[in-house]
Amino acid sequence: MSRFQVRKVAVLGAGVMGAQIAAHLVNVNVPVLLFDLAASPKDGAGAAASSSKNLIVTKAVEGLKKLKPAPLGIAEGAAQIEPANYDEHLDKLGECDLIIEAIAERMDWKLELYKRIAPALAPHAIVASNTSGLSITKLSQVLPESIQPRFCGIHFFNPPRYMQLVELIATPSTEPQILDQLETFVTSTLGKSVVRALDTPNFIANRVGIAGMLATIKEAETYGLTYDVVDDLTGKKLGRAGSGTFRTADVVGLDTLSHVVKTLQDNLQADPFYPSFATPPALAQLIAQGALGQKTGAGFYKKVGKDILRLDPGKGESAEGRKEATYVPAGGKADAIVERMLKKAPAERLKLLRESTNPQAQFLWAILRDSFHYCAVHLADIAPTARDVDQAMRWGFGTSQGPFELWQQAGWTQVATWVKADIDAGKALSKAPLPAWVFDGPVAASEAVHTAEGSWNAKLGQFVAQRSLPVYERQLFRENVFGSGAVEALKSGTEEYKNAEIRVWTLDGEVLIASITAKLHLISPDVVEGLLKAVEIAQAKYKGLVIWSPDDVFSAGANLEALMPVFMKSGAKGIAPEEKKLQDAMLRIRYAGVPVVSALRGLALGGGCELAIYSAKRVAAMESYIGLVEVGVGLIPGGGGLAYIARRAAEMASFASSAGNANGDIFKFVTDGFTSAAMAKVGTSAIESRRLGYLLWSDVIVAHKDELLFVAMQQAKAMFDSGYRAPAKALIPVAGRSGIATIKVQLANMRDGGFISAHDFHISSLIADVVCGGEVDAGSLVTEEYLMALERKHFCGLLEHPKTQERIMGMLQTGKPVRN
Ligand code: NAD
Repeated sequence: MSRFQVRKVAVLGAGVMGAQIAAHLVNVNVPVLLFDLAASPKDGAGAAASSSKNLIVTKAVEGLKKLKPAPLGIAEGAAQIEPANYDEHLDKLGECDLIIEAIAERMDWKLELYKRIAPALAPHAIVASNTSGLSITKLSQVLPESIQPRFCGIHFFNPPRYMQLVELIATPSTEPQILDQLETFVTSTLGKSVVRALDTPNFIANRVGIAGMLATIKEAETYGLTYDVVDDLTGKKLGRAGSGTFRTADVVGLDTLSHVVKTLQDNLQADPFYPSFATPPALAQLIAQGALGQKTGAGFYKKVGKDILRLDPGKGESAEGRKEATYVPAGGKADAIVERMLKKAPAERLKLLRESTNPQAQFLWAILRDSFHYCAVHLADIAPTARDVDQAMRWGFGTSQGPFELWQQAGWTQVATWVKADIDAGKALSKAPLPAWVFDGPVAASEAVHTAEGSWNAKLGQFVAQRSLPVYERQLFRENVFGSGAVEALKSGTEEYKNAEIRVWTLDGEVLIASITAKLHLISPDVVEGLLKAVEIAQAKYKGLVIWSPDDVFSAGANLEALMPVFMKSGAKGIAPEEKKLQDAMLRIRYAGVPVVSALRGLALGGGCELAIYSAKRVAAMESYIGLVEVGVGLIPGGGGLAYIARRAAEMASFASSAGNANGDIFKFVTDGFTSAAMAKVGTSAIESRRLGYLLWSDVIVAHKDELLFVAMQQAKAMFDSGYRAPAKALIPVAGRSGIATIKVQLANMRDGGFISAHDFHISSLIADVVCGGEVDAGSLVTEEYLMALERKHFCGLLEHPKTQERIMGMLQTGKPVRN
């Protein structure tokens, strides 16, 4: 069977979405052509120069480098986007296996463009539109019949690098195989999570999410709550994105929000919830005044100096009777009693909220009821199953669970009865009754929309299993919803060893897995003990060891708090042996008889970074943030991080000279590593971490976080099967005292220029001392143990320094670095 391959992608439209989608394609190493209209002289294009016709695209690509959060893994990636315009480069479309259209949201413009590009497409190319609200079926109808089976919707969320969800939408004529191929590409190559949506206005996530947002605004008004209180109630405390409701709106942009609301208004007149889609007056007022949220500096909130103000919608009438936005200090929070209710298990939580007379509690019950009501009434029409609704909300809106999951967890029939009572009493947003399947049939009988058999399909009236495609075999613990009976990683496999902070286990009997379970996976003496145990077991019985955990952090560093009692009792002297144990563990990992593979995702800082760099190989999710950050707490890397920098410099110098390059001078290679550690640089992506030297070119970057374990296990097995031997222990040539002196001159300039403090100078000098191998002649040969002893000496010295102690205490107490 031939394999579907995407060798090159064309993105049409270099606006907000198109440019960022192109950036993400670069991140995952897919060649991309970015098209937009040919620029005219009024856009600044010169009349003759052909390349200037790409001006709209080249400007957009420039913009990508400055955008926050960064769409590109490294800014230089922008150069890999190939600019194009429809006047000159249509023929290049023939090189592309996938075309993603992301031009302005106008049916007539999109149709016109499709007609124009159709003759240039390769016969096998898939064509997909990123429209948020237009009918995919209508869009497909202008395409030649030969293209229609290969056309569908591909709805990314903004910002596309970071948002997990992509909705794929078929038309009646889309070939099923095409959608499977696209799902495979989007999942494994782009690293996104796919929900298949039906071709209904705004698809699933925006339909449910925006209806929910409007309901929240309306209920907040009903219960007289202010925006800051609503945001506190509807953020993390409710298991939703931390920015709550109104701050999210400000971040998205109130114009964009109003645009999506307008699609609801234009397309959903028949929706029984239609009256609740009216544009909220405060939103209309803000837009009329040009207060569009974060991008204009004011929206529901406004930052004045250091103060955050919130809109006070009741106030503000100018002398001419025109409404004007007035802002008052923000900071309103949830009542303590409501906060306590939110911490209860779902069944009790919902009961307490519903029965309470506290307006905040009533508000929360009301918005949850509205979401249950809305989702139940629309399930049959908008989504293949209840699972798709829940996953769309998790991946598209960052909620910890979807509405159906919460409803089921709180007790299906009990909650349904409460919702019905509110509908009957006229308290709900619509009089539409709950559909019959809620009370009768398999859902009511099993008290569940999600079962081990599958999730409820309201149209077919049956439970439907999760889609299985070969690509999902790469996700060993595929995300599923509450009630689906999905196995939890830390409860599966065969356990070999366990203590309070680490679990050592195997899934396949071939590769051992060490999963750190401590908070933020901080490395404590227990973790070190577990890792050593894991190496021992792996050497005896397995092909390799993978360090992996099922959550979004590799390790945020060494656990300083755990060392506090030792420090209190015996000072830095007591710490030295503990630190030596950590360094010895790193060496044990590096010289283990089987390969140790670190599977990284999220933070890998300080000791976490050291664990990774002492492994035989690293497999990193694109969203990995790796760095040696000890300087932030007034310390230096003390678990072998600096010894690694010295060793890498020597290795690179040796490669350079063996390649006949005169630049075999070690010092040249030490300075980059020195700077990364002295400035506590953290890679903002796996790609950038590679640039910093914490990942090597031979390491693997994985786009989908849930494929990490699979790939890491494959790597460990392949290394073992190819005859893995631990690296030979070798002496390391160092830059020595002349290197230290050169770095110190630069540091002194920075200190004297006021760029760094005296304590920064001190810490950086100690880092220079270790990475250059101390006061020895340039080119002297030293051991790793010698470098680690230097690390230990300076680390322990710093622990006794009052300014370092101030930094550590500040970090432990406030979580923020102290500058001193
Ligand atoms: P945008 O306004 O930022 O960019 C639109 C681009 O289309 C511009 O570069 C413009 O030059 C080009 N364009 C305009 N008229 C054209 C025409 N007649 N022919 C060809 N090109 C033309 O828009 P955007 O926000 O990037 O949205 C693009 C698409 O993505 C829309 O369909 C939108 O619904 C969808 N979408 C947007 C978001 C979002 O958050 N902005 C999220 C998901 C999907």
